[in-house]
Amino acid sequence: MNRRNRFSWFLVLVCCLLLPKWSQAQSRPAADLIITNAKVWTVDKSLPLAEAVAVLGDRFVAVGSHADIDAWRGPHTQVIDAGGKLILPGFNDAHVHFVSGGMQLTNVQLNDASTPEEFARRIGERAKVTPKGEWIVGGNWDETKWNPPNMPTKELIDSLTPDTPVFVSRYDGHMGLANSAALRLAGITAETPDPPGGTIVHDAHGDVTGALKDAATGYIDRVIPPLTHEQRLQIVKRALAYAASVGVTSAQHMVASYEDIAVYSELLLRGELTTRIYAAPSITHVDDLAKLGIGHAFGGPYLRVGALKAFADGSLGSGTAFFYEPFLNQGNNRGLLSDEMHPISLMRDRYMKADAAGLQICTHAIGDEGISTILDLYAEIIAAHGEIDRRLRIEHAQHMAAKDFERFAQLRVIASVQPYHAIDDGRFAVSHIGHDRASRTYAFRTFLDHGVRLAFGTDWEVAPLAPLLTIYAAVTRATLDGKNPGGWFPEQQLAVAEAVEAYTIGSAYAEFQDKEKGTIAAGKLADMVLLSEDIFSIPPEKIREVRILKTFVGGKLVFDAAGTHH
Ligand SMILES: [Zn+2]
Repeated sequence: MNRRNRFSWFLVLVCCLLLPKWSQAQSRPAADLIITNAKVWTVDKSLPLAEAVAVLGDRFVAVGSHADIDAWRGPHTQVIDAGGKLILPGFNDAHVHFVSGGMQLTNVQLNDASTPEEFARRIGERAKVTPKGEWIVGGNWDETKWNPPNMPTKELIDSLTPDTPVFVSRYDGHMGLANSAALRLAGITAETPDPPGGTIVHDAHGDVTGALKDAATGYIDRVIPPLTHEQRLQIVKRALAYAASVGVTSAQHMVASYEDIAVYSELLLRGELTTRIYAAPSITHVDDLAKLGIGHAFGGPYLRVGALKAFADGSLGSGTAFFYEPFLNQGNNRGLLSDEMHPISLMRDRYMKADAAGLQICTHAIGDEGISTILDLYAEIIAAHGEIDRRLRIEHAQHMAAKDFERFAQLRVIASVQPYHAIDDGRFAVSHIGHDRASRTYAFRTFLDHGVRLAFGTDWEVAPLAPLLTIYAAVTRATLDGKNPGGWFPEQQLAVAEAVEAYTIGSAYAEFQDKEKGTIAAGKLADMVLLSEDIFSIPPEKIREVRILKTFVGGKLVFDAAGTHH
């Protein structure tokens, strides 16, 4: 033992024996941030409620009473008085299309166009200010809000957009309307065959209407000029600011392109990535990701990759969700499997490759047979590669066959669901599929009763990126048309606490990050939101009006309704 070591040991001795109190107070670093006088709903079962939190660096160091937390105060600690308001863990949106969402913030808005004339007028206005050669895209139109609810056709907009190609999407993302300029560029004529998993809609004369379903939209996607890196960067920055303003601190980007990931990593290097991203490229890229050898959730706290997004079928509204029995109002149509499922062995091979490479699988499946078919394939994966913690996911898990809840739980599949869809689709689901199937639609309560883990999200840009609206939807199930104020299939309503849990730790679990985030607990990443009202004590129908006052990601204030942005 040299002189220096001996001296250290002496100090340790002094501290331990003579001055334990003094030593503890002096050796503990002061917190960077303390939020006090709050109702902290931690989602941590060991300490569900607290009054204050202390943050050091990017993590919580203490959660507890005012007195507990005050001990962390130092001369440079920033102290925020929450005025008794509610703090929750930051919202983790388990299913977003972050770049399309960001684009939508500036695209033409068609969702609330209440007549076909208004729909056409808005597109015409946009065409006047669209530079030559640029497309009008997005829009999220919803013909069910029109009377009668007829699908739009190209004739509605052709005369207003003679030189501007238009491809505006239906709000569910499974159908789009092209004008004649766009159809010309894509080379689509009355003779063009339907691609596997897609439909080119024809009118009574056999002419194309401009409406393209599912895989048929690929004909148009191929001729829309891709975004430049700079355009994409600006879109993502807009999306990040918006996410912070609504309290979303983590986002799981479904079908992220490599270009999207390049933008995220550039923003990460610049220190400007203010939402934590888990990027899931299309499973059609499984070979690339398998070759990299990274496995699931590879990366750091702000950017991870290693999940793959697959598609089993389409959507309810477009009549493309794949059911055992036909839709009630569409002849023999019972939907269709996506092009990734033609043949099913194509999907099986990709799954097996992905799983062998340790990648996580997230599959969009909506119709009961679509979901069931994916559960069959998931069971095959488990049988082939053994039981490991792989956190297989079904995205949407919308219309369940009665026989499949049990199996869903046994296979430990995560139901990654978007409650807003329930109050949206609830307007028309019974007329499409009848009461019996509708009773197992967005069956969040039945999932929980079977022990299935829920992750919450929005499917932005398909639905609004709005966590409080999402919680409102799960808790009230009050459809958007106001026709079910007591709840659409109210037996499926969740308690506020259950909804918050699904949106925080549930989503964190779904991305293998439940040890790192999703609750407010010492050691976890300091992601949290301060809300304008206590959603646990106000009437549920008021939850949708609650605003985010402050959003913190890693202890950094990324949104402040008071206007101070850091
Ligand atoms: Zn989606």
